[in-house]
Amino acid sequence: MIYLDSAATTPVRREVLDEMWPYLTAEFGNPSSSHELGHRAAEALKQARAKIAAILGCRASEITFTSGGTEADNLAVKGIALATPRGRHIVTTPIEHEAILASCDYLRRLHSFEITMLPVDRFGMVSPAAFADALRDDTTLATVMLANNEVGTIQPIAELAALAHARGIPFHTDAVQAAGALDLNVTALGVDALSLSGHKLGTPKGIGALYLRSRLPIEPLLHGGGQERGRRSGTENVAAAVGLAKALELAATDRADRMSRLADLRDALISGILAAVPTAILTGHPTDRLPGNASFCFPGTSGEAILLQLEERGILCSSGSACAAGRDEPSHVLLAMGLSPEVAQTALRLSLPDTLAPESVPEITLAVRDACEALRAVEPRI
Ligand code: PLP
Repeated sequence: MIYLDSAATTPVRREVLDEMWPYLTAEFGNPSSSHELGHRAAEALKQARAKIAAILGCRASEITFTSGGTEADNLAVKGIALATPRGRHIVTTPIEHEAILASCDYLRRLHSFEITMLPVDRFGMVSPAAFADALRDDTTLATVMLANNEVGTIQPIAELAALAHARGIPFHTDAVQAAGALDLNVTALGVDALSLSGHKLGTPKGIGALYLRSRLPIEPLLHGGGQERGRRSGTENVAAAVGLAKALELAATDRADRMSRLADLRDALISGILAAVPTAILTGHPTDRLPGNASFCFPGTSGEAILLQLEERGILCSSGSACAAGRDEPSHVLLAMGLSPEVAQTALRLSLPDTLAPESVPEITLAVRDACEALRAVEPRI
């Protein structure tokens, strides 16, 4: 089996599990307890926070642990928007993850916010000029993802954040897919808030974090015992927080070398597939894309049918976001990039693990070609 769905999730890394194990067993204390076991759990949490802060180049107090990327996105969008008295206007893009889009929609429906959806070009790229034009005196938040989960396009976040700051507007980025592949230094990115999720990097599912620049007002979503400096109540998942810190450290080690090797494999795969299936369309930006993302449309086929064909050939991948899998709707990302619903229904996303063996590239290329040919035999349209 070749697993090419790393954008959906990844296996727990051995080193991560080893680091977590003591806090799942002997060191099971509640970090709020005043006895020794509690103190040790609190210390582990403190160290995990400090390690993540070191990778992001921020203060430990600026990291809030969450239950994952979805909660980090919800907390950023709703929490910042509802805490900022500036107005009720948000600028975002139509290619964001559902966690952002649905949070914006919630604010529109229940709190009378106005949402500006910036157009993207055919590569899924936001135009800084259009972004600047969309900012208003009553804009409370701008949120644009660092890298797209379906097509891998990387946005010019530093430039967009600078434009927002020139108008005094806080800027959030969803870095869930970028983590592990790109630099997450929040000063270089210039962002005020950044969402992370562990399970894309080898932690168990259900842990994430939100970086929030200090003094940025935030309205919590969860009320209770006041953990996480009152930003996120609930007994902390100490073991998973420790795992997230370890996973981010591992992902930062030799990142440039590992990602350049992965980008070479991605490029070989893209050119191989475009040559083997001449009607294939590469989706996403040709160069400004995640090193592990190779995504396509195969006009005249069906994405779901290709998935089944590939699974029969031992290759596991997806047609787009895991959240949308099983829904019979074309991807909102591909539609926003100007593809027709018919073509968008033929999407395939290969998201490569950084352990991918070079020998697998020709095997995957042939499997994709054979899958398309098998479908053409049934449905002679490609
Ligand atoms: N944001 C992006 C870009 C994602 O790809 C995902 C997950 O696929 C999320 C947010 C949600 O993260 P989680 O699965 O941790 O809730």
